[in-house]
Amino acid sequence: MEEHYDIRNNQNTEREFEAALRPLSFADFKGQDKIVENLKIFVQAARMRGESLDHVLLHGPPGLGKTTLSQIIANELSVGFKVTSGPVLDKPGDLAGLLTSLEANDVLFIDEIHRLSPIVEEYLYSAMEDYRIDIMIDKGPSARSIQLEINPFTLIGATTRSGLLTSPLRARFGINCHFEYYDNKVLTGIVERSAGLLDVPIERKASSEIAGRSRGTPRIANALLRRVRDFAQVKGTGEIDLQIAEYALEALNIDKHGLDEVDNKILNTIIDKFQGGPVGLTTIATALSEDPGTLEEVYEPFLIKEGFLKRTPRGREVTELAYKHLGKVKFDGTMGSLF
Ligand code: ADP
Repeated sequence: MEEHYDIRNNQNTEREFEAALRPLSFADFKGQDKIVENLKIFVQAARMRGESLDHVLLHGPPGLGKTTLSQIIANELSVGFKVTSGPVLDKPGDLAGLLTSLEANDVLFIDEIHRLSPIVEEYLYSAMEDYRIDIMIDKGPSARSIQLEINPFTLIGATTRSGLLTSPLRARFGINCHFEYYDNKVLTGIVERSAGLLDVPIERKASSEIAGRSRGTPRIANALLRRVRDFAQVKGTGEIDLQIAEYALEALNIDKHGLDEVDNKILNTIIDKFQGGPVGLTTIATALSEDPGTLEEVYEPFLIKEGFLKRTPRGREVTELAYKHLGKVKFDGTMGSLF
């Protein structure tokens, strides 16, 4: 198989660049219209009452704007914003430190909230519900726990794997938002906004081409824009037109439909090992040495949305489009039809 340029492996170097392009207000955040419309109302109501916003759960594939939107919520509420993540919070003491440092109505953002340890998760319940935590004082025989009141706050939890959330935790979020992949039109707008911030002239056809190859994901669109900009500077005039965009995307080996290495591996496996399906999710996962939940929540939704894969009662099945995309011939059982 061809080698694909994996934009997601460069996350550290991309971080600063991402921060510069991050929208800071609802007005700058494009797409996810339903989510934004509702959040605007909830934020305004919380502001009018001078209360903290209800706890918010944001779920969906990576790079779709969960962190960005959380920061925007804090900005729009005019409150402080503290960031942490599930795997970092490994002791209740770490969480207690964070919670006691929050000012009234602040936002605490926990990324990858499905990876909280069970002890920390349980500790979070009373904080979310009653704004109270238990802390241990003293050591040895005189050790005892006391209850401490904390300021009302909003917990925003983000997860790519909502299926792994326990039901007691899920039940404590009053607002629940599912992020969808972006369509080409919205993504084109995001590429244009980013190009504007980077001060790079770009043709509409070029921004649409970049958007089309970005797997419906703003993070990938911005990363591709950055690479294409390099080509435009070195090989062209600095301006990004369709020709230079296509040249750069070909040179970088970016898939025409924006599929990444894992996407193509999934489709190839179903075709080569299971005659195109139908085949069960767990069987595919085993063949790929992947976790079935990750396949179902992170990869499959895009392949289904773009029409490469179908969910049938008997399992997953690839479509004609997948065969065409991979340049493969469908074997229909009758060898005669091949001749
Ligand atoms: P997630 O937390 O879902 O993984 P992020 O919030 O980190 O995703 O978003 C990744 C990058 O994509 C951000 O740096 C931001 O610049 C860009 N981005 C995401 N959503 C949008 C959007 N709706 N409009 C403009 N840019 C966006």
